[in-house]
Amino acid sequence: QEDQFKKVLSHAKEYGYVFQSSEIYDGLSAVYDYAQNGVELKKNIRDYWWKAMVQMHENIVGIDASILMHPTTWKASGHVDAFNDPLIDNKDSKKRYRADVLVEDYCAKIEGKIEKEVKKAAKRFGDAFNKEEFLATNGRVLGYQEKIDAILGRLGKSLENEDLADVKALIEELEIADPLTGSKNWTDVKQFNLMFGTKLGASADTAMDLYLRPETAQGIFVNFLNVQKTGRMKIPFGIAQTGKAFRNEIVARQFIFRMREFEQMEMQFFVKPGTQKEWYEKWKETRLKWHLSLGMGADNYRFHDHEKLAHYADAAADIEFKFPFGFKELEGIHSRTDFDLKAHEEHSGKKLQYFDHEENKNYVPYVVETSIGLDRMFLAVFSNSLQEEELENGTTRTVLKLPAVLAPTKAAILPLVKKDGLPEVARKIVDDLKWDFNVSYDEKDAVGRRYRRQDAAGTPFCITVDHDTLEDNTVTIRHRDTMEQKRVKIEELRDIIKQEVDV
Ligand code: ATP
Repeated sequence: QEDQFKKVLSHAKEYGYVFQSSEIYDGLSAVYDYAQNGVELKKNIRDYWWKAMVQMHENIVGIDASILMHPTTWKASGHVDAFNDPLIDNKDSKKRYRADVLVEDYCAKIEGKIEKEVKKAAKRFGDAFNKEEFLATNGRVLGYQEKIDAILGRLGKSLENEDLADVKALIEELEIADPLTGSKNWTDVKQFNLMFGTKLGASADTAMDLYLRPETAQGIFVNFLNVQKTGRMKIPFGIAQTGKAFRNEIVARQFIFRMREFEQMEMQFFVKPGTQKEWYEKWKETRLKWHLSLGMGADNYRFHDHEKLAHYADAAADIEFKFPFGFKELEGIHSRTDFDLKAHEEHSGKKLQYFDHEENKNYVPYVVETSIGLDRMFLAVFSNSLQEEELENGTTRTVLKLPAVLAPTKAAILPLVKKDGLPEVARKIVDDLKWDFNVSYDEKDAVGRRYRRQDAAGTPFCITVDHDTLEDNTVTIRHRDTMEQKRVKIEELRDIIKQEVDV
């Protein structure tokens, strides 16, 4: 698993997807830049989401609110008082850790033991192996599971009750050590606010303390009535938004999984009070379908229903994805009640109510939100697509099997040789196709090497122009995943590519 993750990191750099920010100055921790291919993949994911959420829903519209908001926003939302992580410092190493993550990592190790048992048994019993039954009846596995449940249950309760001394006691009882140095010499657990502060205004005495938004949702809540009125929206309706959010994260070691500056894709759906459970279930299902539509394997997703709820929620679930470091949250679906709108009413003194013509009354709507990290989605897609394949001739190839709709470049046009008029024909194909797709031209090295290069970069099609092309206007089109090659007419190319990349 660790090896696979290392490969993901180096491949993302080598093929122009993700770079460490400010690399020439040795980088900035947990901040990354998207490179020439990464920016295209990221844009395609964003577009795929936007199309599914906004274009395909008559009752969902988009906005683009500012990163900077009036500071009272964050007082009302609860972020000033409650957007904290429990931190613990190691006295010897002077390293700082999130206390809850130390405990969760400990449990993940036990989960690893369960996986090992499953693998061993699957090998032993072959076709007769039934995983569900094994998990439900095997004594050793049940023991591990009970231990995990007990630890996480206690952690959840302690955090909910803000009993930080007990979190510390738990770390001590489990004999958890500093992951880097092995030292067990800890300080007390303390709460740490994750918002980045900044200042607005030129002179010191008129400057206003602001925060960089830690989530995009509040930009939607404060605009709720503006959008509803100007768009003449009827409940139930949604407002969608993509944009940057900032969190001063302490655990910052999982590449773009957890960044300090990241992008969210959120949709807040406003519903009649009392109907939120129904909509919550509906959005859970709809969002899972969206993920499955990309064809990345149903086994790689699971729901995690929250027992411990945030202060604003009456139900919450994560869609977890199997990242190279295990199942982790990719998207959250939250039933946020009327907490946010009511809080903004209270702090602003303005009514944020909807007049329901059918019911002939005013009310503050309830909200069900879907919230996914664009960068996390990028990592899910990228890490799942990166594969090493053994070929029939005994060699291996590295191939990035990105869903075609998301691939940065849809086709590479390759003249077989750099002479005899082949480059000119290839260039003509590029000039023709570029109106519809991102395509590239590559004439360097032997064609086999160019195929490999495009496989590794994630390009779904290679189109090769050879001497026969000059005679009959046909080219070879090679499919990245199957490596199958077909002879087709140049004028058919557009439709063939379209079929694969359109959704
Ligand atoms: P986590 O428990 O992993 O910190 P969260 O529960 O705080 O996440 P939310 O506040 O629900 O996350 O944010 C919604 C989504 O935004 C998450 O599902 C995740 O995809 C993304 N996200 C949150 N924090 C980060 C981050 N630091 N870097 C990248 N993506 C993030």
